[in-house]
Amino acid sequence: MASLYEIPIERINGIGEKRARLYNKLGIYSVGDLIRNYPRAYEDWSNVTDVFSAQVGQTCCIRATVDVAPAPHVIISGKIMASARASDETGFVKLVFFNNRYIDSLIKPGCEYLFYGKLTDSSGIKEMVNPSFQPSGEEIPIHPIYSQVAGLSTKVIETAVKKALKMLPEKIKDPLPENIRTEFDIIGLKEALMNIHFPSSSEDIEAARRRLIFEELLVLVIGMKSIKAMSETQTSVRINGDYTDEFVKLLPFKLTSAQRRAIDDCIADMTKNSKAMNRLVQGDVGSGKTMVAAAVAYTCIKNGSQAAMMAPTEILARQHFESLDRLLSPSGITVALLTGSMTAKQKRIVLEKLEAGEIQLLVGTHSLISDNVVFSDLGVVITDEQHRFGVRQRATLLAKGADPHLLVMSATPIPRTLALMIYGDLDISVIDELPPGRQEVETFFINDSIRQRAYGFLKKNIKEGRQCYIVCPAVDNTESGLIGVEEYAEDIRKNVFTEQTVGVLHGKMKPAEKDAVMNEFIEGRIDILVSTTVIEVGVDVPNSTVMMIENAERFGLSQLHQLRGRVGRGQYRSYCILVSNATGAEAVKRLKALCSTNDGFKIADEDLKLRGPGDFFGSRQHGLPELKIADLAENVDVLRDAQSAAQQVMPEYLDQTNSDYRVLRAEVRQLFDDVGTQLN
Ligand code: ADP
Ligand code: MG
Repeated sequence: MASLYEIPIERINGIGEKRARLYNKLGIYSVGDLIRNYPRAYEDWSNVTDVFSAQVGQTCCIRATVDVAPAPHVIISGKIMASARASDETGFVKLVFFNNRYIDSLIKPGCEYLFYGKLTDSSGIKEMVNPSFQPSGEEIPIHPIYSQVAGLSTKVIETAVKKALKMLPEKIKDPLPENIRTEFDIIGLKEALMNIHFPSSSEDIEAARRRLIFEELLVLVIGMKSIKAMSETQTSVRINGDYTDEFVKLLPFKLTSAQRRAIDDCIADMTKNSKAMNRLVQGDVGSGKTMVAAAVAYTCIKNGSQAAMMAPTEILARQHFESLDRLLSPSGITVALLTGSMTAKQKRIVLEKLEAGEIQLLVGTHSLISDNVVFSDLGVVITDEQHRFGVRQRATLLAKGADPHLLVMSATPIPRTLALMIYGDLDISVIDELPPGRQEVETFFINDSIRQRAYGFLKKNIKEGRQCYIVCPAVDNTESGLIGVEEYAEDIRKNVFTEQTVGVLHGKMKPAEKDAVMNEFIEGRIDILVSTTVIEVGVDVPNSTVMMIENAERFGLSQLHQLRGRVGRGQYRSYCILVSNATGAEAVKRLKALCSTNDGFKIADEDLKLRGPGDFFGSRQHGLPELKIADLAENVDVLRDAQSAAQQVMPEYLDQTNSDYRVLRAEVRQLFDDVGTQLN
C-alpha cells in the first residue's frame, strides 16, 4: 500500500496531465491518495421499485424498459437536450438528459435499465432529470459518491478508483498488528478499502468505516503520544517537600476532594520524578481552580522557588493578585502584580525585587512574558484559562526558568477523550465537583415580549441589595447592526433603571478605565454592569445574582455557560435570563439545553454535537492534523478503543528496531507532516 503513494495518478489508464490537475484540486496526487479518498456518501440501488410505487419527491431506483429512445438536439439556451421514455407494466416515466450528446448510444430502445434519481412531477407525468442508469442485471447495489470538482464527476472518479484498487498487491501489509485487530474486532485493510468504495451491503460499509476510523484515530493518538514523549524535559527545579497540609490550614474552607486530588496529582508530578510537570487542570466555572494553583505555588515557594501566574486579562490578574495576597502574605510570602497598565516606575520596583528573589509569587498578564522580566529562581509557571494563550506564549514564559514545572488551568469543559487529543502533550486532572452549598443558577429563555418583566426582576434583586450583569454581543452597532453596550446602557439608564446605577464595560476601553469600572462593581457602587463578553473569564463578584444575556443566540453554548458562571458564586439564589427572538429549531434547542442543565461537561458535549469540533476548538489552530474519515465528536467510542490500543502498542511502537510497526510509523509521520510536526 505504502508504495502506491509513490505512483503518480497519471499512471492510471484514462488520466492524462489535464485530468490529473483536477484530481490535484481534490488533494489527490498519487494512486494511494485516490484509494484513500473515501466516498462522502452512497447511492443505494438495492431498493428497486416499479414505476407506480415510485414516489414523486423521493430519490428512487426504477427498473424499466426504454420505449422511446432519446434524440439529442440543441435547445434555445445552446444546451443539448434529449427526452426518452421508459415503462414497466405499472406505468411509464419520462427521462430528460442534458448535455450528453452520446446518450442515444448509451440508452437503447427495447432494453431494460435501472434508473436512479429524484422523481419529479411534470404536469402530472412522473419525470427524472439526468438520472444515473445501468443495464439491468449488471447492477452494483451500492454506488459510492465522491466529492467532485468541475470537470471531474463522481462517476469518473468511481471508474478511476476501480482501476486503482486493482493495483493493490494481492497481500498488503496491514499497519495494524494482528492481535490488535482481533482484540478490537477490526477487519483487514484490504477488505476495508475494497468495501469502503464498493460495498455490497450497509454492514460492509459499517465494518469498513470502523476499521478506517480506528486506524486514523490510532495514528492520531500515537502521534500525540510521540510528541509528548519528545517534549518531556528533565527539570533542575528541586521540589522535595509537600506543604499542602500546611497550606490547607490557611484556608477558610475545606478543599473539595476533587480539588485535593488535583493538587495531589500536581505535587506527585513535581516531587516523584525528575521530569518537569506538564499538567492541565480542567474544572467547570466555580470549581475552585484558583486554590489548586495557590497550593502548587505554595509548595514550590516553600521549597525555595518562585512561582508565576499568568491570567488573560488585567481584571482577572488583579483579582487573583488580591485573593492570593490576602491568603499567602500572612505566612510571609510576598505576592506582587505586574500588568501593562502600571507606571514604568511601579514596574521597575517589581522587576528589581523579582530578580533579587524578594518576590515569591508574581501574578500578571501577558506582560510577564516581556524580556525584562527576570526571575531569580522560577520553579513553576501557572497559566489560567489556557485557551486564551498560545503554546508559544507558554513556552516563552517557561524559558524564564531552568525547565520549570507547568500547570495549565482551563474552565472550558471539554469531553475528556477530546481533551486528551487537544492537549496531547499534557497530563490531565479534572475537578468534577463544585464546593458545597453552591447554588445552581436557574436559567430562563425569554423573548422580547416579556423584557419589561425581566427588568422588573432585576429591580427586585437590586432592591434586595444584589447586583446584576447585562451582556450584549457587540460594543457598538456600526458593523454588527446589533445594539451596542454604550447605547444600550444609555437607553436603560434613561428609560428603565432611573433610580439605579448603571456601569459600562467593554474591551475597547483602556485598561485603567476597565479596572476603575470593575472596582466600582466589586465594591457595590454599580448596580447593573452592562458589558460585552470581557467579563466572561473568571471574574468573581459573589454579590451578583442575575445575568441577563441579550441576543443569546449569538453565543456558543459553552460561552453562555461561562457567562452564567459569573453569578451563583455567593450564598444567594442566582438566575440567568437568556433573551432571544430566535425561532429556528436549532437555536431554540441550544438555548433550552442550557436551561436544563448546569453541568459544563454535558453542555460541552451538546455544543460539540451541534457545532462540530472545528467550531468548538478552531481545531486547526490547535495544530491537530486534518482527518479524512474520523470525526472527533461522533466517533467517541472508536476513539476510546484507539486510545486503549495506543496504550498497549506504544512501547513496541517506540522501539525503532521492531519492524512490525514500520507501516504504522510511516502513517503517523505522514499525518503529522501535514501540520509541520517532525516525528521520528
Ligand atoms: P474557578 O474554578 O472558576 O476559577 P474560583 O477558583 O474562582 O473558581 O473559585 C470560585 C469561588 O469558590 C471563590 O470565591 C473561592 O474562594 C471559592 N472556593 C474555592 N474552593 C472552595 C471550597 N473548597 N469551599 C468553598 N469555597 C471555595
Ligand atoms: Mg478561575
